[in-house]
This record gives sequence, structure tokens and C-alpha cells, in this order.
Amino acid sequence: MKKINNLLIGTNNKGKLKEIRDLLPQKIKTFSLNQYKIKSPKETGLTFEENSILKSKYFSKKTKLMCLADDSGLEIDLLDKKPGIYSARWGGKSGDFNKAIRRVYRELTKQDKNWKSKRIKARFVCALSISNLDKNLICVRGEVEGHLSNIPKGSNGFGYDPIFIPRGKNKTFGEMRSSQKYKIDHRFKAFKKLRKFL
Ligand code: IMP
Repeated sequence: MKKINNLLIGTNNKGKLKEIRDLLPQKIKTFSLNQYKIKSPKETGLTFEENSILKSKYFSKKTKLMCLADDSGLEIDLLDKKPGIYSARWGGKSGDFNKAIRRVYRELTKQDKNWKSKRIKARFVCALSISNLDKNLICVRGEVEGHLSNIPKGSNGFGYDPIFIPRGKNKTFGEMRSSQKYKIDHRFKAFKKLRKFL
């Protein structure tokens, strides 16, 4: 694959856009969907990889730019890996992350009334793909293992950050400075695998 000079970041999620921009080498000129006013496509895939590729192809075809897209989410073992690819959808139409977190707690209580006294294993997963028009060039995956906090903590980051405690730490992602989170999270791990192409 040739080195990349221009890249569209195919996400309408401000949290992801900021993080991806921080992770990319400075020499790459980035474009965001803001400049194009394109809505995200329906995520009809059944895996993170499928949805990531679906998005990078879609946005690349719309803009004629090479596009990097991310599909990510939180897998909770006690909930059979849900919300998984439905992580954004648990926030409803308005993308309300407090609502998504309340749903996580409700579903956990349905499974086990005493879940709060247990260690609820979870992981964030991220699939990153780069496509040029209808051609997918690369797709990689990164994961970070951890467990859930039984109350939301911290106001940094986005999404499920206030309830996720990465392995080996005692703070949620929501309590960490973004620079600290970016060094250990699923997106960073996926990015490491992309680095040789950038
Ligand atoms: P997607 O846009 O369909 O990939 O949705 C991903 C969803 O997963 C986001 O809206 C968040 O709810 C959640 N998510 C993904 N990555 C993170 C993260 O780094 N922190 C918190 N939540 C995340």
C-alpha cells in the first residue's frame, strides 16, 4: 500500500474524531465529515469489522477521498457480549450516553441482582479500516480488557468511559486525562497495527 497523504476521518462522533486526529501522524492532512455534511450509513454489518468497512467505503465513495473509519463498542461478558456493535444504538436516537449506561445497569440487574458485588468483565473493541472508493485496503482490530464500575465516575471522554476500568488500573476512563486513556485503549491498539501504512 502506498503512503497516505490525505485522509477523511469517517465519523460523526466528536469523541472519536478528536481521538483519531490525535493518533494520526501530523504529516497526514485530515478532513472531517463536518466539512461535507454527510450522514452516517445504516450499520447493517454483524461484526465491528464489517461495519467499519461499510462506513469507510461509503464515505470514500461520497467524497472521493481515501477514508479511515472506526467501528467500536463495549462487550460485557455477563450480557453475552452486548451492547457490542449496538453500543451507540443503546443511547437511542439522540445518542444519550447516560441512557446507554442506565440500560447497561438495568440489563445487568436482570441477569444477576447481586452484580454490584462482583467483578463484571468487559472489553472495548475497535475495528479500524481504510478504504479507497469501493476498495477496502486494510482492516485491523484492537481490544482493551477491563471491568465495570458499579457507579459512573468521571466526566472526561465519551460514551461508556465513566463505567469502564481498564485492567491494572483503579480509575475509569472517564476519570483519566485523555492523554492517559489514549495510550492504552482499544483505538490506540488498533492504530499500532496501522502505523506501518501511515
Ligand atoms: P459506532 O459509531 O457505531 O462505532 O459506536 C461506537 C459506540 O461505542 C460509541 O458511541 C460509544 O458508545 C462506544 N464507544 C466506542 N469507543 C468508546 C470509547 O473509547 N469510550 C467510550 N465509549 C466508546
